[in-house]
Amino acid sequence: MDKDDLQLVLLGLGTLGTFILIFINLPQAINRWSPIFNSLSPAVLGWTQNLLIAGFAFATGWLLNSKLSASTETTHEVDDEEHRVEEDDEEESVDTIIGCVEVEDAVWRGVAEFSDTKVENVDVSLPPRCPKCQMEMNKESYKISNRGVPSPIRSRNTATRRLWQCPNEDCGHSSTRETGQHSTAERLFRGFVQEIVESQGKEYSLENLIERVDGEVTPQSVWIEYSQIMDNEHVSTNCFR
Ligand SMILES: [Zn+2]
Repeated sequence: MDKDDLQLVLLGLGTLGTFILIFINLPQAINRWSPIFNSLSPAVLGWTQNLLIAGFAFATGWLLNSKLSASTETTHEVDDEEHRVEEDDEEESVDTIIGCVEVEDAVWRGVAEFSDTKVENVDVSLPPRCPKCQMEMNKESYKISNRGVPSPIRSRNTATRRLWQCPNEDCGHSSTRETGQHSTAERLFRGFVQEIVESQGKEYSLENLIERVDGEVTPQSVWIEYSQIMDNEHVSTNCFR
């Protein structure tokens, strides 16, 4: 029996006691203290008594009912609080890290999924973004004439220059586009996330990064903390816009 049940029983006993006292003593009290009631017929007296009994029964029922619903509400509140604490705990962890890796003046956005201390899946998306304005860059190719440069074979007089070109004309950034950049970015990103997830007790270890996050712990906020710790030219945050 918990505290609420005990209170309920005491309340019931108290009400019953009061009821019995009044039920037994009321006619005497009326007779003794109210001469007016003496002039009333026994029938009226009986009715008054019945009304009082009904009133007490009603009051007892109402009290018990409100007491019961109050204790039910209290239980719910406790449940809700426990629930909230659990949700808070869940928010304080991530199983994904989203990061930006800069390779030769282009920024690649990667998503890494992991379980416990093992990186499961890494995906670096194409195309890369402009490191200045973070827009996705276009593939461009230009023919460059090698006029004036002596060459024995005519077809070699032109070369193709491949670029990542920012579509934002106000920005105008471009960078050299070469095969292998995507896989380099992927390899770098996987390495960084492995460093975070598979290490323990280091400044850049996942639990320390989560601790450092001021606000909501998200796949991005963990990486932002990592980028502030790491002095590495490839670690960037220029893909979150
Ligand atoms: Zn740009």
